[in-house]
Amino acid sequence: MERVTTIAELRQLVGHARHAGQTVGFVPTMGALHAGHLSLIERAGSESDFVVVSIFVNPTQFGPGEDYERYPRPLEQDVELCRSAGAAAVFHPEASEVYGPEPQVSVVVQGELATLWEGASRPHHFHGVATVVAKLFNMIQPDRAFFGAKDFQQLSIIRALCRDLNFATEIVACPTLREEDGLAMSSRNAYLSSAERITALRLNHALTFTQELLAAGDLALPEILAELRDLLNNEPGLELDYATIADPETLRELTSLQKHMVILLAAKVGRTRLIDNLEVHLP
Ligand code: AMP
Repeated sequence: MERVTTIAELRQLVGHARHAGQTVGFVPTMGALHAGHLSLIERAGSESDFVVVSIFVNPTQFGPGEDYERYPRPLEQDVELCRSAGAAAVFHPEASEVYGPEPQVSVVVQGELATLWEGASRPHHFHGVATVVAKLFNMIQPDRAFFGAKDFQQLSIIRALCRDLNFATEIVACPTLREEDGLAMSSRNAYLSSAERITALRLNHALTFTQELLAAGDLALPEILAELRDLLNNEPGLELDYATIADPETLRELTSLQKHMVILLAAKVGRTRLIDNLEVHLP
């Protein structure tokens, strides 16, 4: 496995692979890798010949007062995990390599998708995500790129980015990996104390409880939504940011049941902001 820090080296590596007739798969990450990330790398390996993983804590997707500085950066451990998961190359640039001294152009996410939910709570977040993903796609020009459904709205934005800016990369959605007790794996789980870790489990409980209410069909959707919000608002140690049941395409909140829905949640447990979601398919 190769590790590179410059765009020129990256282009050269990918160029060689392409010359040799290999297909290129790409997994963008911010590092502090866990089994969820590794499942993306393995999936990429099963669907492409040459897998590039980026490890880059992207400053432009963090707002003021968020955790950019303290985000965990166990680089050497991450590189070894990439190797063991079958990556062919790891790209771990400095921010100055990615953005240069004075960037003049970036990607604007202007549609409703970017103003709902995560977009409302973190106003510049998707602008930073879309810009860095567009830049990485231009550096690598992958055939396929692999993203987790854990970040459901991010996945919708990336699909819109590819559609609206005509990137040829195919976006592959991968399922959320969870700890045995149901907590969605996240690099930010490392911030949780053992008491907070127990509180954080309520998010997954709320998702499965809501899924059961939706499947039972005894209550109308606004009543189910009220139950979900009540449950999380009454949880000590948990500060709910949003909870909704939305259309998986538009992410607009639903007012009545439909066959395919997504429950989206964000909450703070102590200082740690966690998100989770669950897609629900009714027969
Ligand atoms: P991050 O390093 O948090 O930016 O995540 C990098 C990629 O890993 C994104 O596509 C995430 O959606 C994905 N990811 C994060 N957590 C999980 C998980 N628990 N299961 C599967 N994929 C995940």
